[in-house]
Amino acid sequence: MQTYSIAIHGGAGTLVKGMMTPELEANYKSALKLALNEGFKVLKKGHSAIDAVTEAVRLLEDSPLFNAGKGSVFTAEGTHEMDAAIMDGKTLNAGAVSLVTGIKNPVHLAKDVMEKSEHVFLAGEGAMQFANQLKYKLEDAEYFHDDFRHQQWLEIRDTDSFQLDHSVKKDSKFGTVGAVACDQNGSIAAATSTGGMTNKKWGRVGDSPMIGAGNYANNSTCAVSCTGSGEFFIRGVVAYDVSCLMEHKGLSLEEASNEVIYKRILEINGDGGLIAVDAQGNIAMPFNTEGMYRASKSSDGIEEVSIYK
Ligand code: ASP
Repeated sequence: MQTYSIAIHGGAGTLVKGMMTPELEANYKSALKLALNEGFKVLKKGHSAIDAVTEAVRLLEDSPLFNAGKGSVFTAEGTHEMDAAIMDGKTLNAGAVSLVTGIKNPVHLAKDVMEKSEHVFLAGEGAMQFANQLKYKLEDAEYFHDDFRHQQWLEIRDTDSFQLDHSVKKDSKFGTVGAVACDQNGSIAAATSTGGMTNKKWGRVGDSPMIGAGNYANNSTCAVSCTGSGEFFIRGVVAYDVSCLMEHKGLSLEEASNEVIYKRILEINGDGGLIAVDAQGNIAMPFNTEGMYRASKSSDGIEEVSIYK
């Protein structure tokens, strides 16, 4: 019987181990568990991998704990600009948005780009016009305000520096979110959503919404969602690289994912991790940072919710 499975991440930028309190750890784990179980339920009912990753990412976006949707970081202007992508491994259809504001669930907008437009990637004002045409309700700034995030931004707002959630800083505790899934028909999908980096400017866009860099799915190889130093993940075309290693070198999902995260991305100074599934329902979740908020579950009975190594 076809194994179905789902894996999710809440970013490779975790609190350094000494700063994690038992209470915080429990909060993270229950947010991960909720998204994992709801995504898994979709698969169990026989629905598509696309629907499962959308549901899991939606729930992670709604949690203030992660740097996506509600918990998005502040830009240099004190606003929130979000990016998201989704890809269907069966059809190779994909949708992505970047620099959107006020959208509660950017993953829904990315899915609408895939399903309701002729395009793959809409950015900034144009993406907002598209949302407006579809009658998206916009949330005000208050919805996205988070004291921790604000503090994180105030510390560097008057400088030229920007901050990734996985920078080696005491408060580097949040992250991008993503989900990958394999459904009962052996179709796979990936979705990723992020607020990007604190104090970002000039319309900076990371790897998360870029098909092939932070997000990719192809039934003949794998579905991948990345988290990490976006500039390096773009240069490494990381998600597609995992797929290429499987397709052209015959590596397994685990071998290909490990090769990219423990070798190829490190060689160009990138840090982070990824989650991946293949059409047999196998799961890989490597990372080269101290931790990565992650969880996985399969119809074979595997279940994991972890933060550190
Ligand atoms: N990769 C994301 C970006 O560069 C950040 C993250 O994974 O936390 O926008």
